[in-house]
Amino acid sequence: VPATRDEVVGAMSALRVVEREAEQIAADASKWMCVWRCRTCGRYWAEDTMDSGQASPAYAYPIETDDPEGWLARAKNLF
Ligand SMILES: [Zn+2]
Repeated sequence: VPATRDEVVGAMSALRVVEREAEQIAADASKWMCVWRCRTCGRYWAEDTMDSGQASPAYAYPIETDDPEGWLARAKNLF
């Protein structure tokens, strides 16, 4: 999970891999967030969008949950 805005840059490239290797299973447009599941291993990934003022880069990080819909409902934007 990225802890700083600099780490978000690395997580942006992770999202490109997630988009290729995973399928989106839940989305919350109000938070610009969604949850993806890896087609190979089943790991869940969160997609979040950083509110940077102008462009809003999206990025991904792995999450531990067995309730992706509930996770997304409780999730807050990191940045
Ligand atoms: Zn995987």
